[in-house]
Amino acid sequence: MTLRYQTIPVTAFQQNCSLVWCDETMEAAVIDPGGDLPRILAAVQQRGLTLKAIWLTHAHIDHAGGTGQLAREQALPIIGPHTGDQFWIDGLAKQSQMFGFPPAESFTPTRWLLDGDSVSIGKQTLQVRHCPGHTPGHVVFYSPEIQRAFVGDVLFAGGIGRTDFPGGDHATLITSIKQRLWPMGDATVFIPGHGPESSFGEERRSNPYVSER
Ligand SMILES: [Zn+2]
Ligand SMILES: [Zn+2]
Repeated sequence: MTLRYQTIPVTAFQQNCSLVWCDETMEAAVIDPGGDLPRILAAVQQRGLTLKAIWLTHAHIDHAGGTGQLAREQALPIIGPHTGDQFWIDGLAKQSQMFGFPPAESFTPTRWLLDGDSVSIGKQTLQVRHCPGHTPGHVVFYSPEIQRAFVGDVLFAGGIGRTDFPGGDHATLITSIKQRLWPMGDATVFIPGHGPESSFGEERRSNPYVSER
């Protein structure tokens, strides 16, 4: 038995929403349901999964916009992000307007996350790391078993998250990447919030924002 996942780009921002599931129990969590809920639910149904939870990396509209509606309609707990993103949750309606998204329903996380926490789905457990910098309350989800990390907008293939939004901080982001992502190992593949997957080793070699050369 193992953890499996499928990434579904959603919203006009092509945000990488991910379904993650335990292939023994077929119970699933959805990471960052920013929108396009019918597409996410179609994938859940197609794979014969039972959706049990919503996990959030951070509360930007393209990642969290569909959370309130999905949680209400499917009676799901909302796990994460870290309390540092409360102001972004409070500002979801304003974010919707600013970026031309459908109005986002407000929500209150069932459980906030802290660095070192873990989250479970079926018989699988992932580790939580707090990686502030893009937003103050940004977290990532890491599976040592399958060597995958769901990193939201912390790190991209060849790039890093923006830090020019309120609460963003470049130096903090770089510290998060180097102290909390790199220890997961060069072979670990990460699923970023936008664009293709890559590995931490590849980014350490070639990403101009964080490479060691
Ligand atoms: Zn973001
Ligand atoms: Zn994003």
